[in-house]
Amino acid sequence: MRWSFDGVEDEKVDVIVIGGGITGMMTAWNLAEAGVEVVLLEAGELGAQASGANAGSLHLQIQYPEFASFGEDWARAYGPCLGFLKESLTLWQGLSDRTGEDLSVKTGGGIVVAQTEAEMALIASKARVEAEHGVETHVLDRAELFKIAPYLSDKAIGGGFCPMEGKANTLRVMPAIQVCAEKAGVCILRNTAALGIAAENGGYTVTTDKGTFHAPKVVNAAGASAGKVAGMLGLTINIDGFPLQVTVTEPVAPLIPHLIYSAAGKLSLKQAPNGGCIIGGGWPAAKRADGTLATDPTSLTGNMAMAAGVVPQVGRMQALRSWTAWVNGTPDWRPILGETPSAKGFYMALFPWVGYSGAPMTAKVTAELVLDQRATASLRGVSVLAD
Ligand SMILES: Cc1cc2nc3c(=O)[nH]c(=O)nc-3n(C[C@H](O)[C@H](O)[C@H](O)COP(=O)(O)OP(=O)(O)OC[C@H]3O[C@@H](n4cnc5c(N)ncnc54)[C@H](O)[C@@H]3O)c2cc1C
Repeated sequence: MRWSFDGVEDEKVDVIVIGGGITGMMTAWNLAEAGVEVVLLEAGELGAQASGANAGSLHLQIQYPEFASFGEDWARAYGPCLGFLKESLTLWQGLSDRTGEDLSVKTGGGIVVAQTEAEMALIASKARVEAEHGVETHVLDRAELFKIAPYLSDKAIGGGFCPMEGKANTLRVMPAIQVCAEKAGVCILRNTAALGIAAENGGYTVTTDKGTFHAPKVVNAAGASAGKVAGMLGLTINIDGFPLQVTVTEPVAPLIPHLIYSAAGKLSLKQAPNGGCIIGGGWPAAKRADGTLATDPTSLTGNMAMAAGVVPQVGRMQALRSWTAWVNGTPDWRPILGETPSAKGFYMALFPWVGYSGAPMTAKVTAELVLDQRATASLRGVSVLAD
């Protein structure tokens, strides 16, 4: 391979991908498989941000807390993203075969658990919007719920069950994808931040401290830092980083085959193949004065209490470890995908909040657009760039 160097003076490639998280790595892999010469620039270590620190939930249904706070009109506007996520979960199901590694992708279904009639009514309204966009969610009464999830608190009165949801092993996914991308010929440069981007001769020059790269096309897959990267070209995009934390418990005997949410507040709860329960759902981490993140003890206790309120056995588990990372978020939850109208050849590959679930489809469609192919899915109603 010609890509083995400590530094470059001036390199020309077909595509520069900025960001070595799951989105950038899968996009680069797809492009290299199509015969394109790709260099991937990663500011730090591969998968060391959200893509290696997330909770591993494969989400599909509209998140209940947002449905409850933003309302039904917002949910209808977000609706087209559900079809995109559904396609992405189908790609997740084939990812172990595609990478040749067991990524522990399991589809046990996801349940939003309700403890009040008001929560049940919102779950039913949410299910109606989901059905309009081809997502199957069953509204379960108490008996139906306990038949599939006998481990829940007896305070549960019903729930919303989305059979296609599941989980993957976050620790295995990034390394497996990286190996595939490298085998396909992607030149991966770690610790190589894009420091500046300039439009020139119908393409782009990206400067790094390891050298300068030129390409007709650039993909911005910089996650929570994508706004900063777009800003290098004078573009403004409404994406930001939000600090989150996740906790894992000691391993226990198999108990929870589902992805569990609560209608009472922020929760995602699932059991990993080794028995540990992974508990998150959007609880904020603390920011230190130097900008780094630390576990917030109030979030930790709040998150654990929320989990134990839904699955009482969690209250008897030891929490082993909590960790933090920045999630990429947009205010209306809609992705920013596709070629930027004002900068031809500059593509955004940004799926917010549940971007792990959306990554395979984001990467597939981004690669198709970069290759000037007809995209598998229309971005109309999905990406804010296609409005
Ligand atoms: C704690 C937590 C839990 C989560 N849980 C889930 C979940 O269970 N399910 C789910 O679907 N989603 C979850 N998410 C969201 C999901 O992890 C992210 O949306 C997704 O991983 C984003 O992937 P990405 O590749 O776009 O971004 P990232 O993984 O953030 O990767 C972007 C990369 O770009 C690099 N970069 C930034 N600036 C530059 C630059 N100038 N030059 C070069 N490289 C640069 C960064 O170093 C980083 O490695 C969670 C997020 C967090 C933080």
